[in-house]
Amino acid sequence: MRFDVITIFPEYFRSPLETSVLKKARDKGLIEVRLIDLRTFAKDKHRMVDDRPFGGGEGMVFKPEPLFAALEALKKGPPHPWIVYLSPQGRVLNQEIVQELHAKKRLVLICGRYEGIDERIREHCIDDEISIGDYVVFGGEVAALVIIEAVSRLVPGVVGCRDSVEKETFGEGLLKYPQYTRPRDFRGWKVPEVLLSGDHARIEKWRRQKALEVTFKRRPDLLKKANLSEEDRAFLKQLGWTPERD
Ligand code: SAH
Repeated sequence: MRFDVITIFPEYFRSPLETSVLKKARDKGLIEVRLIDLRTFAKDKHRMVDDRPFGGGEGMVFKPEPLFAALEALKKGPPHPWIVYLSPQGRVLNQEIVQELHAKKRLVLICGRYEGIDERIREHCIDDEISIGDYVVFGGEVAALVIIEAVSRLVPGVVGCRDSVEKETFGEGLLKYPQYTRPRDFRGWKVPEVLLSGDHARIEKWRRQKALEVTFKRRPDLLKKANLSEEDRAFLKQLGWTPERD
């Protein structure tokens, strides 16, 4: 999986890319992250990438020329990239979109700053516009990192155990069951007995039911799309779930 990140702050990415799983994934060649400094595509002697908005008003806007030149240069080499602008106006990221992005094999991630980018680039040069949530941050860099992490988790070999990717939150359309570790008794707060029983069938059943229960309590909206068996449905109904309403 390859990521080309267009940014005016390449140094922003240094520590996250050099830490833990992302570092290992890069070292093993499972993912490749290239940082493209937008300023290197600015033609004037001051390397200006932004300018004041037409019509007046606060802030600065990324000029079209450097971005266009950067995208043209990136499009030259195979594989063909999927060009994403990170923006609070985009479709809101979720695990389904993460899977779509993973399937693209190569992503170009444009990080805006200030007031964002010239509208003509957004209109004519990008394939996708993605938001990390309904709030505004300073720049697209943190959003690009969210995408790099979430997509990299799906690349085989990046997360040691496939099972942990598939069974985790959103993997099967449900939130994940709760986890416990030693000690068995912490301040009188005990680990559920079933997890100490060694009975794998019982443990699996308990975990499935807990996943259903926490999803019903915290994110009932997810149940609409989840892959539910007859047994799951019967269990949820006992909890008060009414499929028609939720
Ligand atoms: N004035 C713009 C916001 C600019 S924020 C507006 O009102 O729509 C500056 C940059 O931060 C954006 O260009 C974008 O790249 C990034 N950004 C801010 N919030 C974001 C979010 N929720 N998701 C993805 N990118 C975001």
